[in-house]
Amino acid sequence: MTEISFDNTANAFAYKSDKALKKANFLFASMGYQTLVKWGTWITPWAIRSGLPVKGLIRDTIFEQFVGGETLEETASVAKTLAQYQVGVILDYGVEGKEGEDNFEHATEEFIRVIRYAASQPNIPLISIKVTGFARFALLEKLDTAAGPDDGYKARIDLNGLSTTEREEWNRVKERMDRLCKAADEHKIGVLVDAEESWIQTPVDALTMQMMDRYNRERVVVYNTIQLYRHDRLAFLKGSYETAHEKGFVLGAKLVRGAYMEKERKRAEALLYPSPIQPNKEATDRDYNLALEFCVTHMEDIALIVASHNEYSNLFATRLLQEKGLSLHHPHIHFSQLYGMSDNISFNLAAAGCPVSKYLPFGPIGDVIPYLMRRAQENSSVSGQTGRELGLIKRELERRKAG
Ligand SMILES: Cc1cc2nc3c(=O)[nH]c(=O)nc-3n(C[C@H](O)[C@H](O)[C@H](O)COP(=O)(O)OP(=O)(O)OC[C@H]3O[C@@H](n4cnc5c(N)ncnc54)[C@H](O)[C@@H]3O)c2cc1C
Repeated sequence: MTEISFDNTANAFAYKSDKALKKANFLFASMGYQTLVKWGTWITPWAIRSGLPVKGLIRDTIFEQFVGGETLEETASVAKTLAQYQVGVILDYGVEGKEGEDNFEHATEEFIRVIRYAASQPNIPLISIKVTGFARFALLEKLDTAAGPDDGYKARIDLNGLSTTEREEWNRVKERMDRLCKAADEHKIGVLVDAEESWIQTPVDALTMQMMDRYNRERVVVYNTIQLYRHDRLAFLKGSYETAHEKGFVLGAKLVRGAYMEKERKRAEALLYPSPIQPNKEATDRDYNLALEFCVTHMEDIALIVASHNEYSNLFATRLLQEKGLSLHHPHIHFSQLYGMSDNISFNLAAAGCPVSKYLPFGPIGDVIPYLMRRAQENSSVSGQTGRELGLIKRELERRKAG
């Protein structure tokens, strides 16, 4: 069995010059100051909206660390560098929260442009999309309220409560999703559908399952995202698999823990319904690893994307593959971490021969602010991710100094 280790910092940071590494060191150290992050995440969106001259500062710091560029073309140099280490890219057009039919059409066409571009590059096998990029949040919420517990994995969408105008609106959403998936199919690019808030997720799941039914037959084009911080998602994964198996298509499953925990808990508390989130981190970890085991056990019919910065879960996935006698580069396995985070996992997995890609967002600074603020908050606990990133960067800086 190949024992993979994530301790090799020379592999992890080979793509970074001394100067770039020192800059990352400074950035992660700054994000360790919770007051600074709290203040920054409050004032930055306001400063951008008010037109204050802060873009240069953002571009040189947090943007450079976590984002590929302001335009699609600007991502080319990052993709080229990663390719030298057999690391791929998952392009993520980082627009969030722009509503209105014109914006939805624009986002759909932009996603298609990203698909075409990805197909022209050697190491961009996948792109990610958000259904809220081309569907009205309140419409998804209404569909979700009307949905039954199994509708997501059974690919059922109940339109009975919608007005004629809303039905037409929903038809346009379906048409956009189909246009995207069709383009991805034609260009042999995979589409990862991001998971968002639980109160809009059922129609997103159902629509994604419908697309898998249509496009995941000869090859895997569409992947749903499953958030294991929700206590009902292991059962959802199994239900999705049953549906796929019955209908004869491959289930694309990107497994994540989940990014909206605080928001989910607060809403459940405010509206007096039971929280959809697991009672503690251990329960999330347990279900995440059980989900990995389920997917690897059914790898013939499931294409799995391990989307995590958790070292144990990534190692566990590689061990499961090997225990079941499957190749580390089985066509149904892919690993992914966000650009700017957990390079020790990505680059060491790639060195061991695993297919791995970095999630690489791009977009104008003003548009990617929500994404950047999530990264800053996620990295503001020194006991968590930041502590780990900082420790690794410092070790590599010392190794370079000594050698
Ligand atoms: C490539 C990629 C794609 C992603 N796409 C999405 C997406 O589409 N949708 C989405 O929501 N997220 C997405 N994420 C983010 C992801 O959901 C996690 O927030 C993030 O990766 C941290 O989890 P982890 O597995 O890396 O590891 P860890 O650091 O081990 O886990 C942290 C996570 O555990 C959970 N957790 C922490 N404390 C508790 C607690 N007290 N109780 C219960 N659970 C707890 C939370 O989900 C938290 O984010 C993506 C991440 C990656 C790497």
